Amino acid sequence: MTEKLSSKDLMELENRYGAHNYHPLPVVLSRGRGVHVWDVEGKRYYDFLSSYSAVNQGHCHPKIVKALTDQAGVLALTSRAFYNDVLGVFEKYVTEYFGYDKVLPMNTGAEAVETAIKLCRKWSYTRKGIPENRAKIVVCENNFHGRTTTIVSFSSDPDAYGGYGPFTPGFVRIPYNDLAALEKALEDPDVAGFLVEPIQGEAGVFVPDPGYLSGAAALCRKKNVLFIADEVQTGIARTGKLLACDHENVRPDILILGKAISGGMYPVSVVLADDEIMLVIKPGQHGSTFGGNPVGARVAIAALDVVRDEKLAERAEVLGELLRRELSAIDSPMLTLVRGKGLLNAVVIKPHKGMEAWDVCLRMAENGLLAKPTHDHIIRFAPPLVITEDEIKDCAGIIRKSIESFR
Ligand code: PLP
Repeated sequence: MTEKLSSKDLMELENRYGAHNYHPLPVVLSRGRGVHVWDVEGKRYYDFLSSYSAVNQGHCHPKIVKALTDQAGVLALTSRAFYNDVLGVFEKYVTEYFGYDKVLPMNTGAEAVETAIKLCRKWSYTRKGIPENRAKIVVCENNFHGRTTTIVSFSSDPDAYGGYGPFTPGFVRIPYNDLAALEKALEDPDVAGFLVEPIQGEAGVFVPDPGYLSGAAALCRKKNVLFIADEVQTGIARTGKLLACDHENVRPDILILGKAISGGMYPVSVVLADDEIMLVIKPGQHGSTFGGNPVGARVAIAALDVVRDEKLAERAEVLGELLRRELSAIDSPMLTLVRGKGLLNAVVIKPHKGMEAWDVCLRMAENGLLAKPTHDHIIRFAPPLVITEDEIKDCAGIIRKSIESFR
């Protein structure tokens, strides 16, 4: 292909040949570096979504790119039919990094959640003594854990589950941020696990009350129920600690990570647990052709090195405070609430003269900043964690100017 296609041409191609399962902002990106992305016409934007918190280390981080290209030229995929010379090194690295006995590598977040569900169920039959096929996993209203058939079976969002039944049984939904509801649900002796997002990201960055996670973990411990944290979006420094659970000194029995574990460079996800749980799965009982491949393993080591070397958790903590302070100072009838932790934040937009969150996002894009509404009236602000203080101030200015333009 020699001709250079315009943004309009490229959007038409996607619309014509791609399934219509997304509704992107009309911006066509062709390059990224650090906190910035550029469209095909060369316009530069701040990326305030970070690919749903996958690109915490910034776009095309040179150390992560090097890990990818070095390994891709040597050995990309062996499958797990054989050992390879990177996987064990990665497994040692990642288990020490997060403090668990064992890791099970997969590719996407949803696959890791599926893995955690299988692990929890098998543990409950082989260790806890729940009768076969009776295990239940407690989940929360407004959860988002991915898009597979089992995962949407316990979603409360009609867009996520509608038309996809029959659904996988074995899940009990309770309100989020409600310890009394959890305590009651745990009275059922067939409950094997509690699967929770430490902050509900897709739901609109709902931060639970202080004490919720530690209280939930304590209730689970009392009932010998596994506390399963889905930190696919909140993990890897995004909320100002390595894990969002660290804010309450909670150590999940099963920890699920994805997205930024590879800096968004390559699909890598993991499930971490101690031997007593992880070893209930025996050879041949679970797996993935690509899970644990040498490229993903090398990339993830580099991406986690960057998080530590560049103190991304500390940056997220400090710059998140600054961002929320700046956003809270915006004077507009459209901006009704600012919330978040670290650099996982959202604003709640009240429609004004027919203008909604989508229009605000279009205006921000015009002004050089990309963010996307979630659930119509919430806009998430989650820039790469390598952003500087001056850039945060600059971005807050763009957001202010954009929102205030709707007077
Ligand atoms: N879990 C959480 C908390 C998520 O936010 C997401 C994606 O946004 C997933 C799981 C699914 O990850 P993936 O899209 O990689 O399957």
